Amino acid sequence: MAYLALYRAWRPQRFADVVGQEHVRRTLQNALSEGRLAHAYLFSGPRGTGKTSLAKILAKAVNCERGPAPEPCNECDTCRQISEGRQLDVVEIDAASHRGVDEIRELRDKVKYAPTAVRYKVYIIDEVHMLTTEAFNALLKTLEEPPPHVLFILATTEPHKIPVTILSRCQRFDFARLSTRQIVERLQQIAASQGVEAVPEALQTIAHLADGGMRDALSLLDQVISFADGKVTEEEVLLVSGGIPRQDVVRFWQALSADGPQRLFELAQQWFEQGKEPAKVLEWLLDYGRWILLAKVSPELEEVQERLAYDPHLAELAETLPMDRTVAQMDLLRTAVQEMKWVEQPRIFLELTLLKMWRVAQQDAEATQADSAAQRVPPSEGDSPLAQLVQEVRQLRERVRQLESRLGDGSSMSGHSPVRVSSGGAVATGRKVGDSPNGALQRLLQESTPEWTRRVQERWEQVLRQVKQKRVFVHAWLVDGEVAAASREAVLLVFKTPIHRETTEKPANRQLIEAVMREVLGEPATFLTVMQAEWEQLQREGMDSAATKADNETAGQSPKPEDDPVVRKALEWFGDLVEIKRNRG
Ligand SMILES: [Zn+2]
Repeated sequence: MAYLALYRAWRPQRFADVVGQEHVRRTLQNALSEGRLAHAYLFSGPRGTGKTSLAKILAKAVNCERGPAPEPCNECDTCRQISEGRQLDVVEIDAASHRGVDEIRELRDKVKYAPTAVRYKVYIIDEVHMLTTEAFNALLKTLEEPPPHVLFILATTEPHKIPVTILSRCQRFDFARLSTRQIVERLQQIAASQGVEAVPEALQTIAHLADGGMRDALSLLDQVISFADGKVTEEEVLLVSGGIPRQDVVRFWQALSADGPQRLFELAQQWFEQGKEPAKVLEWLLDYGRWILLAKVSPELEEVQERLAYDPHLAELAETLPMDRTVAQMDLLRTAVQEMKWVEQPRIFLELTLLKMWRVAQQDAEATQADSAAQRVPPSEGDSPLAQLVQEVRQLRERVRQLESRLGDGSSMSGHSPVRVSSGGAVATGRKVGDSPNGALQRLLQESTPEWTRRVQERWEQVLRQVKQKRVFVHAWLVDGEVAAASREAVLLVFKTPIHRETTEKPANRQLIEAVMREVLGEPATFLTVMQAEWEQLQREGMDSAATKADNETAGQSPKPEDDPVVRKALEWFGDLVEIKRNRG
């Protein structure tokens, strides 16, 4: 059997199989069951949204030997003939290929004869806006006095090109672009039935490239499957479609703010070596910029949520890149995408565009710095009441800082240099008034137990889920932190990257997370954060002091070291390692 393209093989055969277009299906099925069909329908909408598929299903439903019914049976001869394009009274005309002159003339001649084997003559005219004026006139004559046994289904991607006289004689349905989720679900179903493993990111990318059209999505999936050898990954989708890998695009947007222009040129160089088209490169950068802006402005949108679920960098960029700067850069990109069509040296043009975008970032950063510097300049009259007040506040702040750090040292775990620990926050309920950050951490470690830690660890997924529901960005940051210890009062989260930790600590974010903790855990309802490196240092210090204590006390034949609360705590946490140390010492 010849290979059947996926989009043909998976063409929906019943209303129930059509993805999306709920309003169209329902209205048509109601009309079918109540026997009040119009003579002419206009299906308008983007490519691949199911217009011709629905037209054929409608043609079958009105002519089905077991119907007319809200669904065709797909088993009777008539249904089969229509599915296979063999039913002579169901005529498909592609106005795009011949502009329809001959077909419409023939239509006009034959339309008056009743159908031979079926109830309705059905004319499906695809891309109807491509008809010539002459053909439109011929069609109009028929539509003005339609014979009772005829059903017209006109389909178009450009309804504004259809004469009003025709439009006014049709019942019109607007087909919506399919959502990414709708396409991905269908692709998943099809890939599974083909025995092909496809990672979600790959299908998301296909759906995104298809721009809401199922046919393009299926064609691309088809190509990737034949290329991919059993497993469909995002890289393969990008290779087949000529796209830029997501991590490259992310790197580009990161480099725009962080690095010098040489990083951008390196990326451009790399894309050239991989044979990417400069025009495509610009389009991909523009596309990702759109995601950044979307995620900044409305992170709660379904498509943004779907994207964030597999692209954590998007959240990071959306949080960190300033709005005005990104908009200005997008403007540059958008213009460049347009101009790229006419330039003679696309590579130079691309590099120039990247450089301009980098300059925008530079200038914006400089302006921001100048602004904050201006704010720091002391008032001109040094002895004005305001200046004195400012001075006093500064002194007070300094004093508080000194006191805090003294408190921290006094209670620090081992007398080593204090570890930077943050536990601040608007609702740090777990802390006693006057607790220093280090004090709070130390207390947490002393009061924590494996039971509490397990309890929190077991429910942390749930905390993350609820945080995500409330604010997907906060989740994107918080997810970097791991529950390392917990007491009845607080959880210790260990972070791998500083930006994730710092953003998690922002008062508004902390407040939200702690509210969720209260809801899910009851207690503990507050948290402290440390970096991975600091946590490892703490562990070493904890072991050192426990081991030292243990050694001293063993030597003096005093009560068993395990009775000492500090040692007991250390053993609980770092049990095996403490043993090893003692044996060595
Ligand atoms: Zn049938």
